[in-house]
Amino acid sequence: NRRIRLASRPHGEPVPSDFLHDTAPVPSPGPGEALLRTLHISLDPYVRGRMNDAKSYAAPMEVGDVIVGGTVSEVVESADESLAPGDVVLGYGGWQEYSVEEVAGLHRLDPAAAPVTTALGVLGMPGFTAYAGLTAIGKVQPGETLAVAAAAGPVGSAVAQIARLRGARTIAIAGGERKVALLEELGVDAALDHRAPDLPGRLAAAAPDGIDVYFENVGGAVWDAVLPLLNEFARVPVCGLAANYNATSLPDGPDRSGALMGQVLAKSLTLRGFIQREFAPTMFEDFQREMGAWVASGEVRYHEDVTIGLDRAPEAFVGMLKGRNLGKALITLD
Ligand code: NDP
Repeated sequence: NRRIRLASRPHGEPVPSDFLHDTAPVPSPGPGEALLRTLHISLDPYVRGRMNDAKSYAAPMEVGDVIVGGTVSEVVESADESLAPGDVVLGYGGWQEYSVEEVAGLHRLDPAAAPVTTALGVLGMPGFTAYAGLTAIGKVQPGETLAVAAAAGPVGSAVAQIARLRGARTIAIAGGERKVALLEELGVDAALDHRAPDLPGRLAAAAPDGIDVYFENVGGAVWDAVLPLLNEFARVPVCGLAANYNATSLPDGPDRSGALMGQVLAKSLTLRGFIQREFAPTMFEDFQREMGAWVASGEVRYHEDVTIGLDRAPEAFVGMLKGRNLGKALITLD
């Protein structure tokens, strides 16, 4: 069983020596378990947080653990008759060739209904994050203006497209010309490169009526550009802060938290953090039905950024955090 484990906790951006590549005997399933062969691994930003020794909404990994991650796998052997060899399932096997998982935690996928990789992206956790945050917190209305960054990634591109389907004017922000071109192709009202000069000026020009919903995926300079443009009663689903994940210290002063709270007060803003699983019991079925139909009809489109080979997971993961991916970042095992 080839696998990749956490060799040391990264300081800032992970480096190759933070990852240990090794092999172990293929494990055997016990009662209620299945042995799975990994086909695809999801690379997600939250995994960077779990490499730190800091308690967050999920417990940190321990040094020596196989790197965690959602997986699409094929059943090799099952101790439970609800799964048969050859079935394809969504699980949480992490960065390894084989995993043993509890059958109760697996979801069988229908390869005829949609490409199985979509269970890790547009029809899975990232797509659901977009749908739930936008519906429950963003509450975007027809005619309103929505902005979202990391807009070429799986969460952001779903946010932009759902908002457009709900009648909002949509401003999509991403890094680099290639991503801007992709977003224009998806039909957003404005696509902006956050790496090009004068984001605040270009954003203001793209939002003449201000911003009613800002779906926060990144923080940093994009948030600084958005804040002055927020309208009274604007909603900010705080979903992620990708600009900070490799940061090792706070940015230099002055401390602007007082000014931020002043804006929250004066404009009656709603900033509400969320972890998608909060909404799963109440919204996942609606998501599957609505998003499934949009993807099947082509009203919501998605892109995948596939790297072939387990050994390349560390470089692809670090690249994803920096924005090298165009669409959902995946590893497909060779
Ligand atoms: P992406 O594939 O979009 O990857 C993250 C992207 O963040 C990068 O590709 C990069 O794109 C962008 N980024 C990185 N640094 C900066 C920066 N300094 N300024 C602006 N953009 C930056 O990831 P996902 O779609 O999977 O996730 C998007 C966000 O949603 C993340 O913050 C993630 O943690 C969060 N999330 C939250 C969940 C929840 O339950 N709350 C669940 C799932 C995801 P670019 O080239 O455009 O800069």
